[in-house]
Amino acid sequence: MTATSVSTSATTAALAKYEPVIGLEVHVQLLTTTKAFCGCLTRFGSAPNTQICPTCLGLPGALPVLNKRAVEFAVLASTALNCEVRTRSVFARKNYFYPDSPKGYQISQYDQPLAEHGWIEVPSENGPKKIGITRLHMEEDAGKSLHEGFPDSATKSYVDLNRCGTPLVEIVSEPDIRTPDEAYEYLTRLKEIMLYTGVSDCNMEEGSLRCDANVSVRPRGQEKFGTKAEVKNVNSFRFIRSALEYEIERQVEVLESGGRVVQETRSWNAAEGRTFSMRSKEEAHDYRYFPEPDLPPLMVSDAWKREILTAMPELPEARRARMVREYEISEQDAQSLTATREFADTFEAAAKRAKSPRRVANLVQSELMGRLRAAGLELEQSPVTMDGVVLAADLAEEGKLSSKQWKQIFDVAFEKGEDFGVVYEREKPQQISDTATLEKMIDEVIAANPKQVEQYRGGKKTVAAFFVGQVMRASKGQANPALLNELVVKKLDA
Ligand code: ADP
Ligand code: ZN
Ligand code: MG
Repeated sequence: MTATSVSTSATTAALAKYEPVIGLEVHVQLLTTTKAFCGCLTRFGSAPNTQICPTCLGLPGALPVLNKRAVEFAVLASTALNCEVRTRSVFARKNYFYPDSPKGYQISQYDQPLAEHGWIEVPSENGPKKIGITRLHMEEDAGKSLHEGFPDSATKSYVDLNRCGTPLVEIVSEPDIRTPDEAYEYLTRLKEIMLYTGVSDCNMEEGSLRCDANVSVRPRGQEKFGTKAEVKNVNSFRFIRSALEYEIERQVEVLESGGRVVQETRSWNAAEGRTFSMRSKEEAHDYRYFPEPDLPPLMVSDAWKREILTAMPELPEARRARMVREYEISEQDAQSLTATREFADTFEAAAKRAKSPRRVANLVQSELMGRLRAAGLELEQSPVTMDGVVLAADLAEEGKLSSKQWKQIFDVAFEKGEDFGVVYEREKPQQISDTATLEKMIDEVIAANPKQVEQYRGGKKTVAAFFVGQVMRASKGQANPALLNELVVKKLDA
């Protein structure tokens, strides 16, 4: 476990006696231009209380009208998460009183949610594992209380109701997750699927994706779940993993010292790396749910569903599998090349116009990604365009550049903010393509390494690479790699 372990004293031995049980509730904001039940804009960052109307304020007489686009996004998301979409689902009022909700209730779905019985596959210690999704339902967001940033913040709080009525889906997992790492993987896949389907921007800083983590521990071998705590206010996947690690240790320590875990809501404090009790959970929620009288049941006919699903893109998992086949790249390369749909699109377009797609994949991985990360740049801001990468890949593939040479060109390109082709044209790295010169260098290396020659001639053909490497070094990376390869083998076989 990570650094959080210092804050509790649960020993490894004690931890090993217990099995964590985790279930996640994720709220995802749908990427509609207008709100769920009125025409107000959903834009983030506008001046407080400028995107509101009688409907999202819940003024008497104002009636909600369901945003069709929100339903389409929700159906797309449900299907991508392997859920069954109900033909008929029902909106309900969830009643509670809080200053950021002027209506006094939230429109949500309760006993008849839009979709159920889905799953997300995650890698786990024992191979791929399906995490069940209990339900996906539609609901509206609340406003925001502002406790800071005003001259009188010490004594007053303000509310910004712009977010009231923004369409969300809540995705509730089964308590199938067993480790903080699995929780992290689940969230990563979930986010990826939301991004691929285009239903949300999943921007965690702006609150477009929020996660509450439920966690309990039970003695290994025990079937009955332990009492859970719910951790809220965690705004990054890494923090969720840390919060879960912390919480598991805390609960184990409570149990090991003879106490019992109380059901409560806890808050993660990133600065201190620990969770704090916010409130103990009311015995049973009393939200007094009842069907929303102002909205008819939501009907999603088969025909409409089919129409919506024509917008379903190839999903990340399937895309990775295809790319591994099509471009002969590794699982791991496929994973990072498909991190976002845009990135995967860009890569595939480039791969298709290159002599060797695999070479493009390798260069993107080995030369581009790291340099972008180091410079803090997005792909769109890269000095080396995809055309530049394709050029590099083609030159490498034709043996016109050695790895040392293309690395140098990438370095210069990033240093000067120029594309690969520009640097290549200007610096046209020297290449030794003269057979006699190369043969002379090879002879020298062969003479200096009789042991390796013996190995090669004894059948260990891979030793050829050693000689290529030696000559390449002697030539300061300028030997024509294709020709060098050919000549080395010829000499060794002679
Ligand atoms: P609540 O009534 O507190 O909202 P739910 O049964 O609706 O609880 O479950 C909420 C979330 O908590 C779900 O994601 C579920 O998988 C998870 N969960 C339920 N029971 C446990 C438990 N004992 N330990 C960990 N997670 C749990
Ligand atoms: Zn409105
Ligand atoms: Mg619940």
